[in-house]
Amino acid sequence: SSTLGVMGGGQLGRMFAHAAQRLGYFTAVMDPDVASPAGLVSHVHVQADYLDEQGLAQMLKRCAAITTEFENVPAGALYTLGAHLPTAPDAEAVAVCQDRAKEKAHIVRCGVPCAPHALIETPAQLAAVPDGLLPGILKTARLGYDGKGQIRVRDRAELEAAWATLKGVPCVLEQMLALDFEISVVLARDAHGRVVHLPVQRNLHRDGILAVTEVPAPGVSAALAEEAVAAAAKIADGLRYVGVLCVEFFVLQGGQLVANEMAPRPHNSGHHSIDSCDVSQFELQVRCMTGLPLVAPRLHSPAVMLNLLGDLWFDAEGRERTPDWAGVLALPGAHLHLYGKSSARKGRKMGHLTFTAATAAEARAAAQQAATLLGLPAF
Ligand code: ATP
Ligand code: MG
Ligand code: MG
Repeated sequence: SSTLGVMGGGQLGRMFAHAAQRLGYFTAVMDPDVASPAGLVSHVHVQADYLDEQGLAQMLKRCAAITTEFENVPAGALYTLGAHLPTAPDAEAVAVCQDRAKEKAHIVRCGVPCAPHALIETPAQLAAVPDGLLPGILKTARLGYDGKGQIRVRDRAELEAAWATLKGVPCVLEQMLALDFEISVVLARDAHGRVVHLPVQRNLHRDGILAVTEVPAPGVSAALAEEAVAAAAKIADGLRYVGVLCVEFFVLQGGQLVANEMAPRPHNSGHHSIDSCDVSQFELQVRCMTGLPLVAPRLHSPAVMLNLLGDLWFDAEGRERTPDWAGVLALPGAHLHLYGKSSARKGRKMGHLTFTAATAAEARAAAQQAATLLGLPAF
C-alpha cells in the first residue's frame, strides 16, 4: 500500500500529511478526536484510543509505514505496530523521550551536558535532594509539554508543596539555570546512520511555551552551532534513531551549551522550514519512514516564526474574535498556517506565522509589525 500512517492527529500530523500527500502518498491518522487537525485532511481517520486493538489492527492493514506526531502516544502502541511494520522512530526511542528521567540518563550517557538534576519518586528521594539543586524546577517525568506539569521552587518547603500539588507522581527536579537564550536542532537520521539537519534555531519562550523562532539564529557563532549539531547527532546515534528528532538546548550566560530535552518528531521550532528551506522537517519525516534519500536542507531565506496561541482569538473583554489576518497577509513575506482546530482556548496552539525575506533584518521587521498588529509583545 502507499498509505503512510501517523499516530496522533494534531497540527504536526496535519503538516506531515501535507508533505506526504505532496509526494504522492495517502495518509492515515489514528486519533480519538473526530475533528483532529490531521484527521480532517487525511484519507483514513482511525478514530480510536491509541491502545485500542481494533484501531491498531486497522492501521496495520492500511499502512506501509508508521510515524508519530504526539510524544505522548503510548510507546506500547508503537511496540504493537513495530512488530509488523516499519516505524520511524521506533518504540524504544519514543519511550526514552517520553520519560524525563530516561531522557536525562541517555543524554548523560552520550557525554552531552544537561542541567544538574535529581529523580524524585519517593519521599526519601525528596528529602535527599542536594541543596545545590535549589532554586529549581520540578517537572513531572511523563506527559508534560508547553510548560505544563512544571513548578518553579525556591526552597525545600516549596519543593515539598510542589510535589504534593503534582500528586507525588515521579518527577525530575532540575537546577534553575541562568539562561542567556535557547536554541534547538532538528535532525533527520536514516537507517544507515546518515544525519542531516535544519539550521540551528533560536527560540524565545513565554510562560514555558514557544513564542518566537529565528533562523539564522542571532548570537550563535559557527562554533556553537557546530557544537549543538554534534551533540544532537550523538544523542540520535546513541538511540540508533531513525526519523526526525529535535533537541532543545540552553545557552547559559557563560556561553556553555546544555541539552534541555528532546522530542521524537518534528518540532514547533522547525515549522519555519516549510517556507524557509528547500526540504521541510515534515518532508524529512516522510523520507525517513519510506527510505527515500535524505539531503541536507538548505535555508533559502532567513525566517522568523511567531506562534499563534488561542489567546489571540479573544479580545480584552474575553469575547471571541477573529484575528486580523488580512492585515497580517498584507505584510511582505507572510506565510500563515492555521491548523483547523474547532475551538480556541487560551494557550492552545492554533497556528503559526512565518516571515521570510531576503535578509534577516527584513524578516524580523515584518514579524515585529505583525506582532504589533496582532497584539503580541515585541521580541
Ligand atoms: P515542550 O513544550 O518544549 O516539550 P516542556 O513542557 O517539556 O516544553 P521544558 O522544555 O522542560 O518544558 O521547559 C520549558 C521552558 O522552561 C524551557 O524552554 C525554558 O525556557 C524553561 N526552563 C526549563 N528548564 C529550565 C531550567 N533548568 N533552567 C532554566 N529555565 C528552564
Ligand atoms: Mg517537552
Ligand atoms: Mg521544551
